[in-house]
Amino acid sequence: NTQQAQQSFWHPMAHPASVRQSAVTRIVSGEGVYVTDDKGQRMVDGVAGLWNVNLGHNRPEIKAAIMHQLDELAYYQSFDGVSHPRVEELSARLSAMLAPEQMARVMLSSGGSDAVETALKVSRQYWKLVGEPERTRFISLRQGYHGTHFGGTSINGSLVFRRNYEPLLPGCIQIDAPWPYRNPWNAGGEELGALCAAQLEREILAQGPDTVAAFIAEPVQGAGGVIVPPANFWPLVRAVCDKYGVLLIADEVVTGFGRSGNMFGCRGWGVSPDIICLAKGITSGYIPLGATLVNQRIAGAFEQNGNFTGALMHGYTYSGHPVACAAALVCLDLVEREQIPANAAKQGDYLLQALKPFEQKFAAVGEVRGKGLMLALDLVSDKASREPVDPMDGFANQIARVARAHGAMVRPVGTKIILSPPLTIQLPELDILVNALDTAFSQTAP
Ligand code: PMP
Repeated sequence: NTQQAQQSFWHPMAHPASVRQSAVTRIVSGEGVYVTDDKGQRMVDGVAGLWNVNLGHNRPEIKAAIMHQLDELAYYQSFDGVSHPRVEELSARLSAMLAPEQMARVMLSSGGSDAVETALKVSRQYWKLVGEPERTRFISLRQGYHGTHFGGTSINGSLVFRRNYEPLLPGCIQIDAPWPYRNPWNAGGEELGALCAAQLEREILAQGPDTVAAFIAEPVQGAGGVIVPPANFWPLVRAVCDKYGVLLIADEVVTGFGRSGNMFGCRGWGVSPDIICLAKGITSGYIPLGATLVNQRIAGAFEQNGNFTGALMHGYTYSGHPVACAAALVCLDLVEREQIPANAAKQGDYLLQALKPFEQKFAAVGEVRGKGLMLALDLVSDKASREPVDPMDGFANQIARVARAHGAMVRPVGTKIILSPPLTIQLPELDILVNALDTAFSQTAP
């Protein structure tokens, strides 16, 4: 029965204010950019499930591809000399899509955390293969989010994700994110980009360059609050990594496949990483899938006498699940055919312009920021000092509750409201999101 089911379900990633049973929102169906809850409330899905249902709900093309694959072959391994066609087709497809970044090899898995874990382990093995086994440390950004496995947990930039699980991987260091709204230098623009890149260089030197395996970051930080770096940040980071031989890993789990307004987030800065992590939008959330891509520098270390052996004692039962690969293949077709990144850029600009006046209109809105269809409203208790609201007060949750009652599913994250709608969204639905948030802030005092 329902009550028993609710008592058994352990709610993952739960803020205490969100999970009182009476406060849980239960979504029962989805159609296009709309979802409906168990009380019949229809809402614009302002979060695309969880940043991932980029092509919208209930797409017949994706369902058909999944059903077709189930008929043909529901599952077979792609381990240790055994494989199946879909996993090879998808790998080729991803390499082709990322040809400008010269991605040479693809390892598939089941989601973003797996994709990051694979990137960290491949980095470690790369350095052992090229004879620098001391390179084991990882540098990442504060506020960064890289998933829930122990490697990802160790490099996560927020203490809340790390502190319950220590001791973590040794040698993981966080530096300040290029966050114009809040940074220790009170800097912005190119000055901030240069200061953050200089901090990366200082940290590499402090650790000893021959001990640092990789620097990892999201092109635009997502869960940490949609932090958009200045134009010079990523090129400077690439230069610093090159200077010391440090690998550059882009965690594109959120930004991949159009969300930031470019097909891939790193393209917005014209930078090619050594490793790219993908998930979420790769199957538009219909089936779990993650991918880790490496360039020839890394793939080359796995060659013997010019032949790629790829010997890697790492992989998952669901590395390249045939049904997930079939879903991804059709999703990538749709992303290209429907020019999804361009729509994300266009509608994202509209949404940002429509929400920007909230900074003047509402005392609790400190900053509205975004790129493409990833946006955040930063909630403050004092606008002048930029003091954030106390996340334990549940103000963000209250805003989200009122917005949901007015037809907009938005996501409260501590001191922020996050928006990440399907990338297929059009103007009328954007206005529903804006109006519902306007009502929520008008009716709710911090
Ligand atoms: N990296 C980033 C940037 C993410 O946003 C997330 C999930 N939100 C992850 C990794 C982890 O992905 P998953 O939850 O699919 O394991």
